[in-house]
Amino acid sequence: MGIYGGTFDPVHHGHLRPALEVMEALALGEVCFVPNGRPPHRDSPGCTAEQRLQMLQAALAGQPGFSIDERELGRAGPSWTVDTLEQIRAEQGARPLCLIMGMDAFLGLPEWHRWQDLLALAHLVVMRRPGWKLPRDTQPGRLLHTNAAASKRDLHQQPAGLVLLQTVTPLDISATRIRALVAAGHSPRFLLPDPVWRLIGQQHYYGMKQ
Ligand code: ATP
Repeated sequence: MGIYGGTFDPVHHGHLRPALEVMEALALGEVCFVPNGRPPHRDSPGCTAEQRLQMLQAALAGQPGFSIDERELGRAGPSWTVDTLEQIRAEQGARPLCLIMGMDAFLGLPEWHRWQDLLALAHLVVMRRPGWKLPRDTQPGRLLHTNAAASKRDLHQQPAGLVLLQTVTPLDISATRIRALVAAGHSPRFLLPDPVWRLIGQQHYYGMKQ
């Protein structure tokens, strides 16, 4: 099972295509998107939790294997990934869990609450992302070095504890850039699914001009 956390403000093709590739490459049974409520490491998002959820639902509709877990949206206080993983682990027993993240998120891992507990709960699958390199002499670099999965098959053979670097189609798309385009009166079309762009247009999210 893949668990893919994010702000998804808004969800875009740089989230979706790599997630599909990871699901297929690693033969995951499903990828569960977990939108965060109040992201602990960033400024307040442009859209509310409900609006981000609506866009995510529109984006994932009809994709087999993709689902949404809303548990962090209802949580008071910050959304800590380790809390979510502990809950999912309790529900899933010994099922292998893969926490999926982009390279930028992996590099920021040492700032996460109880980050050293994450590997006891799940594998980490790190997707390469344009513009982000992993220096070996950093905590995440060492974590990869000491816990690297020898093969994709290993991820299925133990419930947690391995780190896998996964190459995906490099898509230099970010939600920050999409928000900036919309606010500047430009179209973000083709960077994100049309149903999401339609919602942004109809609801005038991200300071879109009327
Ligand atoms: P923002 O620009 O607002 O920071 P973002 O585009 O980075 O947003 P998030 O919702 O913060 O999107 O990211 C959720 C997860 O998706 C993170 O693990 C991030 O690394 C990953 N991700 C986002 N965009 C890409 C991309 N283009 N390629 C690979 N991974 C990505």
